[in-house]
Amino acid sequence: MSYSPSADAASAPAAEALTLPLTNGFARLGEAFFTRLTPAPLPAPYLVGFSPQAASLLGWSGEVATHPEFANTFAGNRPLPGADPLASVYSGHQFGVWAGQLGDGRAHWLGEAHTRGGDWEIQLKGSGLTPYSRMGDGRAVLRSSIREFLCSEAMHHLGIPTTRALCVVGSDAPVRRETIESAAVVTRLSPSFIRFGHFEHFAACERHDLLGQLADFVIERHYPHCRETANPYQALLAEVSMRTAELMAQWQAVGFCHGVMNTDNMSILGLTIDYGPFGFMDAFNANHICNHSDSQGRYAYRMQPNVAYWNLFCLAQALLPLIGDGQGGVEAAQAALEGYKPGFADEIDLRLRAKLGLREAHPGDEALLNRLFEIMHAGRVDFTLFFRRLAQLRVESPEHDAPLRDMFIDRAAFDAWATDYRARLRREGSDDLSRRAEMNSVNPKYVLRNHLAETAIRKANEKDFSEVATLLRLLEHPFDEQPGMDHYAALPPDWASQLEVSCSS
Ligand code: AMP
Ligand code: MG
Repeated sequence: MSYSPSADAASAPAAEALTLPLTNGFARLGEAFFTRLTPAPLPAPYLVGFSPQAASLLGWSGEVATHPEFANTFAGNRPLPGADPLASVYSGHQFGVWAGQLGDGRAHWLGEAHTRGGDWEIQLKGSGLTPYSRMGDGRAVLRSSIREFLCSEAMHHLGIPTTRALCVVGSDAPVRRETIESAAVVTRLSPSFIRFGHFEHFAACERHDLLGQLADFVIERHYPHCRETANPYQALLAEVSMRTAELMAQWQAVGFCHGVMNTDNMSILGLTIDYGPFGFMDAFNANHICNHSDSQGRYAYRMQPNVAYWNLFCLAQALLPLIGDGQGGVEAAQAALEGYKPGFADEIDLRLRAKLGLREAHPGDEALLNRLFEIMHAGRVDFTLFFRRLAQLRVESPEHDAPLRDMFIDRAAFDAWATDYRARLRREGSDDLSRRAEMNSVNPKYVLRNHLAETAIRKANEKDFSEVATLLRLLEHPFDEQPGMDHYAALPPDWASQLEVSCSS
């Protein structure tokens, strides 16, 4: 007879082991790509936020966070068995200007966990100085770490490709920014942390052998089908272009602004990466600038798709030595980039049409959308609330439009638009109930508005982490009506207009 555990042992779950099947494949690329180093100790760390869903990616249950060494481990104070921590070197264009060498200035890349769902690279961010810290202190503050943690998870649940976040640990260790703040470390997970800037680095120092090694590494792990094509590096560029186009359409469709779309913040997998001064738009403004440090508006909302394209040109330039020599190489690279514009146009059309609840594509749709965005812009109408409320519109009952039309200062402009929208809905025989369900599955009710994150941060500064947990749970179901949570979907309070987020993190 096989051994069966006693009732006692079965009811008292053993503390989940803090182990992972971990290796560091990036480390095998060789020392030109990184510097090996251990995270700097963070005094007396405590758990601020934890994502059970991110933990499950690593094969862990939510119980893992109760392990007595959990905070210590993800503060970088205790090594994860199998980790081979390193900081990688990359370069990049910042605000349109070549910035030269950058690199992981405050991140430790531990390795990748091999799980049933694939490989997940693990990075600590804010874990101390590295050779690439330049003028920085290697640390991250609690405020920006909570924002990164919540937004990574929120974006995933919106269906937008992103790095994930396992947890945030805090410490009372002081960190100097404009004022003295406290330190924190975010643990990020991603299939790859490789950025456009990694390629730009080896291109800039004319190490084409290393450039090729890096491209082969990425192709082998993430784009293996490119290997089957006549020019795998051209195919790689074409694929990254399409993924980036899709990502931009997804950002635009939820009103997400990244804030610092430098080439070193662009993922080679087309993921949202490096959450800093990001923002979800409240009032719609096509020129919205979420990053207070971006005085020229280079990364304003309406600029994002073009900036991504500009960044892809930087990547193309970097890959050129691999794609081909002379005019032939340039033409091959251009051909690879060509998919971006139509790719973005197709994706954004699809998503915006879905936001309006249109199943079919009709010739006047673009004009209808443009007019909507014009009147939303003119009236600074709340982006998230408007689309959510639009789902309530009844084709044959304009007398019920008040909740929508009251969002506009120019009600006549809304009425005129709504008349045309109704005509368009009738043209495809749209049914109110099914359209409402479809719209509510693409127009989120809950997004991480700045003031929501700010409230969680203010409480966390007082050692109350309950709001971080509440927001995480809320944002795991952004499309669902959640009883008792309506206030999280409301217009921002007046004080929110004073909030500024900047590159300081
Ligand atoms: P970002 O624009 O925040 O993605 O950062 C640009 C570069 O600055 C990257 O190389 C970062 O690693 C580095 N960096 C940002 N903040 C710090 C910091 N506090 N300490 C060291 N390096 C930093
Ligand atoms: Mg960055």
